[in-house]
Amino acid sequence: MRWGEKRYHSLDYELKQMFKEKVYKIALNGGMTCPNRDGHVGTGGCIFCSSQGSGDFAGSARLSIAEQIRQGKADISSKRPVHSYIAYFQAFTNTYAPVETLRALYMEAIADPEVKILSIATRPDCLGADVLALLDEINHIKPVWVELGLQTIHPETSAYIRRGYELSVFEQAVKELRAIGITVIVHTILYLPGETKDDMLDTIHYLNHMDIQGIKLQLLHVLTHTDLAADYEKHPFYIPDMQDYIQFLGTCIAQLNPEIVIHRLTGDGPKDLLIAPLWTSNKRTVLNQLHSHLKEQDIWQGKEYYV
Ligand code: SF4
Repeated sequence: MRWGEKRYHSLDYELKQMFKEKVYKIALNGGMTCPNRDGHVGTGGCIFCSSQGSGDFAGSARLSIAEQIRQGKADISSKRPVHSYIAYFQAFTNTYAPVETLRALYMEAIADPEVKILSIATRPDCLGADVLALLDEINHIKPVWVELGLQTIHPETSAYIRRGYELSVFEQAVKELRAIGITVIVHTILYLPGETKDDMLDTIHYLNHMDIQGIKLQLLHVLTHTDLAADYEKHPFYIPDMQDYIQFLGTCIAQLNPEIVIHRLTGDGPKDLLIAPLWTSNKRTVLNQLHSHLKEQDIWQGKEYYV
């Protein structure tokens, strides 16, 4: 296959091409908040977002970044020999702080010689000129990736999930990040309430023609203590079973631009907070089933992608 043993352009494959070895991610917490929670954009946050700002696997904000990296490395390297890491600022909105605070956090992360990439999860409305200038500067030292939480292109769904910015803001952010050579990864959510398969594929088709380098396809997770969970209890919405999800993922993969690297294909919800779908907890099984489905149906990324 074009991407090693996989039928899609996986992050693993891409990293091995870049660094000739496996690279592991360390999820960090820079102690930030989010404008969609503190009142600048909204107060309730996105409807699905956990109290940890979607950073449930990140380190503790009580620890310095260097200490979080040290702990992350100790955990990962206790199981296997590892020499390369991605410092991934995951929790909350990781460009939402004064630029000098951001500089100190990012510089502390890239100071570790085994950190090969700085990856930053954020919102497209939190990339002012000063932040972009900082990212540009750091991108000349080590590669910088920025992950934007788009979730969907549809305005009705975006209003329901309380995303808090327009699609045009996303487009502007992608343009500005690409102008300074930053790798852009887009986080999408599949099976948001009210979206049909065609709606979800509209988001994929739209992203196929954007200048983005990576995508996360995240199955919607209902987590405890979220407004989404309250809605789910009152009016349970459709959540796919594993078979339905895998079949639809096959369609998404077939229609996805083969140049776009796939960073995620399932969910990554913390087991202790997950209400539904519970079958996603066994990630290995989901991926094995997906790989068998792709093989049986002779699907590969881009098979049905037409420029
Ligand atoms: S933008 Fe991110 S951190 Fe903020 S509420 Fe939404 S998902 Fe949570």
